[in-house]
Amino acid sequence: MKFLQIFTIVLLLANLIYTGCILRETLAPNPAIAQIQELKEHTMIRDTQLIQAVLMLHHEAGLHDVGEEFMCPMCDQIKKQMQMVSK
Ligand SMILES: [Zn+2]
Repeated sequence: MKFLQIFTIVLLLANLIYTGCILRETLAPNPAIAQIQELKEHTMIRDTQLIQAVLMLHHEAGLHDVGEEFMCPMCDQIKKQMQMVSK
């Protein structure tokens, strides 16, 4: 639980720093379209990672039903194990 909280905070700080760096490059005169597209893709990936980290915290704290939450990596793992057992 403590590890996940620290992991989430570190991930959030890394995202903020990375976003700041990309934003500084993007705001430079005459930004290339490729840079904006790259920013969009990286933002989506980082948002997904953040959501998954928060969902893992919720999973550990018991805030959602085990094996039922969409996008929760721990629930996905349980679902895979259940499918392997049922085969
Ligand atoms: Zn879960």
